[in-house]
This record gives sequence, structure tokens and C-alpha cells, in this order.
Amino acid sequence: VQIAVPKETAPGERRVALTPEVVGRLVKEGVGVRLETGAGAAAHFSDEAYWKAGAEVVHREQLFSGAQVVFTVQPLPTPELARLETGTILVGLMYPHRDPERVRTMATGNLTALAMELIPRITRAQSMDVLSSQATVAGYVAALIAARESSRFFPMLTTAAGTIRPAKVMVMGVGVAGLQAIATARRLGANVWAYDVRKAAAEQALSLGAKVIELPISAEGEGGYARELTEEEKKIQHEALAKEVGGMDAVITTAQVPGRRAPVLITADMVERMSPGSVVVDLAAESGGNCELTRPGETVEINGVKVVGPLNLPSALSVHASEMYAKNLYNLSKLLIKEGRLEPDWSDEILAGALLTHQGQIAHAPTRALLG
Ligand code: NAD
Repeated sequence: VQIAVPKETAPGERRVALTPEVVGRLVKEGVGVRLETGAGAAAHFSDEAYWKAGAEVVHREQLFSGAQVVFTVQPLPTPELARLETGTILVGLMYPHRDPERVRTMATGNLTALAMELIPRITRAQSMDVLSSQATVAGYVAALIAARESSRFFPMLTTAAGTIRPAKVMVMGVGVAGLQAIATARRLGANVWAYDVRKAAAEQALSLGAKVIELPISAEGEGGYARELTEEEKKIQHEALAKEVGGMDAVITTAQVPGRRAPVLITADMVERMSPGSVVVDLAAESGGNCELTRPGETVEINGVKVVGPLNLPSALSVHASEMYAKNLYNLSKLLIKEGRLEPDWSDEILAGALLTHQGQIAHAPTRALLG
């Protein structure tokens, strides 16, 4: 079997789907790997390193011919799908809701698309879970941005020039990214408060040394995710959080509800009550924002409070984000490739869950619904 890895083309994307280390493992197992020249450059993996690991390094024109599998981070541009042979298996993040027409093109072109973000979050799939690996990166970077954009120290300092009290940091939404943001802010010496609507999240936050803001809301949804709150619950949440947020030096928000716009947790009036020099980092900027004032990809300043809406944070840590992503892909490849041969078992729960298009059909019901 032959795997192709293109250079990512999405603006600002610095990650690469495979690292030289993972290429080395695949090649040892009898898999052919071909990369586009410069594919790893933004993540600091050179063509030479891939070549030494046993890959072919070619120009894009030669990349796809004879490849049965294409590994990417972000989806291939739609015009390029026409260059792939019928039956090619595409594996990567697919963002079907952002461009359902691309999914239709993949289906009509008889391409099989496996969306890494649709892999079921069951124990057996943990080692393939790119949502978790990349959220770990995002949560860490978010805490660093909060520290950097804040006009105050995070740690407590006792110096000849006076004593500095530790910063108060609140993390809202304590999933994978939130937990990493808590841990990172704690390592920087901040006092950390945590808030989530799932009880299990509260326990995990406590174990990382955060104080937990408890409200009489429990919104466990399916598959370990949260459900959307009712209007009444949103009111209770807003009143309680409004009191807390005003006293914070930094707030990091990561709250998501699958298939929905991100919930608004921080309203404009809450930002107004924060002291000048403090900061909100909104990790949900890409899906609508947890803060009313967030502008995706921008930093806005209101009365001295910065509201940061970063996009694609994992890309900022391109080396480790790529290493983790590549390991996730490698673990998934075990379900597709046996002894160097392409032998996918489409009835496997993990592959079945991740299937976006297959045999001319759109396998993912929510995308079919979007296309009407
Ligand atoms: P996510 O990105 O969907 O959401 C982030 C957090 O936002 C969640 O903790 C959610 O509860 C919270 N949230 C949603 N609405 C909120 C609101 N109104 N107010 C406050 N917080 C709100 O979640 P995630 O990081 O992908 O993880 C979700 C769950 O999946 C966790 O329980 C995690 O442990 C579990 N998980 C399981 C596996 C696995 O077993 N393979 C892998 C990863 C994650």
C-alpha cells in the first residue's frame, strides 16, 4: 500500500500529518510513504529527515499517482479531489459542516473519507483521538496566551520591590483543553478556579488543584459530552458566573456542545466588570465563541480588558502537535493496513464511526441533512 502526505495548504496551518519517526515505523512494516517536498517544513521536519526514514519526497504533481491512502491534517482543497483515483481513502480532519459541498464532491468522486474528528470516543480509540491530542496542545497554549496578554504576573512573588499576589484565573469548560489550561496556569503559579456543567469535570479539576465553582446544574449529555442548557439553567449560570468573573485576572473558556454553536458564558456586561489589564482567552472562537465580544482570529480590547479569539492553536506548537497527530494516525492505520496490505474492516466500530463518505454515499447523517 502507498500513503501520500501533502503539504498543508490551509492558511496558517503549520502541522504535518506524518513525522519522520512515524514514517520510519510504517516503512519498516512494508508500507510505502510519499511526501510532498516541504510537507514538514513548518513543523521543522526536513525533506532529508523523511527521506532518511525511508519515504519518497516528490513534487505535488507526482504525489497522488498510485496512492491508495492520503493522510492530511486539514481537508484537501476541493479542486484537487478530482486528481485522486476512485476508491482512494482520505484520512484527516474533515470539518464537514464548514463545507458540505466538498463532502458531496468526495462522495460523487467515489472517494472514501475518514474524518478523524468523528472517531468514537471509546477506550479502544483513545490512542487515535486527535480531538484529545490537539485539545491538549490548545489548552496549554491558551494558558500561555493568557499569561502573556495579562498585564499582571501569574505567580506570587516576594521581592524587595514588594509582594505580588498570585493571579486569579478561571477556566470555563473543563474537558481535555480546559484541564490542560488548568494544569498550565497552576504551573505558572496562578490560583485557578474551574467551572463546568459535568460533575466528572469538577472532580478532575479538583485533582489538578483548582477550586471548583459549583452550581445546581448538571448537564451530562451523551458520550461524556455536555448537553445544551435550558433557558432557566442559562439564567442561573449567568447570574452565578457574573459574580465570579469580575474578580478574575484571566478567564480561559473552552466550552463546546457537540453539533451546536458554542454556548455564550461571558456576556459584554461581565467583561465590563473585569479590571483593566485582565484578559479573556476564548478557545471556542472557531465555533461562535464563549464570549459575546470574541472576534475569531482577533484580539479586541474593551476598557483595558483584552478578549483574545485565537484560531488553530495546535498549529502554534507545530512540532509536538504534529508528533501527537502522527501517532494518532499511525494507531488508526493499524485498522486499515495489515502486513503492508490495505485490508480495512469497515464494520469495525471505529472506522464505521469515522466514515464520512464511502462507495459513492455520504455516510454521515448530519452532513446529509445539511445538504438536504
Ligand atoms: P468538548 O470540547 O466537547 O467541551 C469542552 C467542555 O465544555 C466539556 O467539558 C463540556 O462539559 C463543557 N461545557 C459545555 N457546555 C458548557 C457550559 N454551558 N458551561 C460550562 N461548560 C460547558 O469536550 P472534550 O474536551 O472533547 O471532552 C468531553 C468529554 O469526553 C470528557 O468527559 C472527556 O473525558 C471525554 N473524553 C473521552 C475520551 C475517550 O474515552 N476516548 C477521549 C476524550 C475525551
